[in-house]
Amino acid sequence: MAFGLLSDIAGLFFPLKCTFCQKGIKNTEPGICPDCVKTLPYTGDKSKQKGDFYTLCVSPLYYSDKARKAVMRFKFNGKTNYARVFGALLAECIRQNLAGRYDLISWIPLSGKKLKKRGYAQSALLAMAAALALDDVAVDLLDKPKDTPAQSTLKGRSQRKANVSGAYTVKEIGMVKGKRILLIDDIITTGATLSECARVLLNAGASEIVCAALCRARD
Ligand SMILES: [Zn+2]
Repeated sequence: MAFGLLSDIAGLFFPLKCTFCQKGIKNTEPGICPDCVKTLPYTGDKSKQKGDFYTLCVSPLYYSDKARKAVMRFKFNGKTNYARVFGALLAECIRQNLAGRYDLISWIPLSGKKLKKRGYAQSALLAMAAALALDDVAVDLLDKPKDTPAQSTLKGRSQRKANVSGAYTVKEIGMVKGKRILLIDDIITTGATLSECARVLLNAGASEIVCAALCRARD
């Protein structure tokens, strides 16, 4: 009886199906089956990328195979409970590569229009889950007053850069002044979105920006 209750509670936190392959798992496993733990498309020694306006972006996974499908379900099919497993993967990558390099954790926001349509901001959920796993908190620093077509609908670096130019604003300049900020996003492709957000944060007085994205596109 007591065990049943405990497993019900565990089910609230960790999905009882593997986040990545959707096979049933024991409720003692933290949301990933042993097979996926071994076979996920990990970035390994290719986890780091440099960018414009941010010093470094780290990603634990490539945006391919099971990881791509799981991120699509998280983003478009309401699988918000994946945030905990994704957040744990992000937190481990942040711990390994960015420990001691930031003062605040934040995320790439959605426009009001997209937020209304989706009902949740996936990168905010990732940032909150990763921060929790790091015994930290994530803070809301950016707004996106301009709705723009999804970056995934655009080909090429220059088009993506133009698409997000001027789309983001800093909520409270006083919060970011002199701070080193860790920005969290779901997927990094060309880095145009992270660069634009880093640019507005630096303009507002932030001292350095580093980033973590759950998945990176393969080169
Ligand atoms: Zn699996």
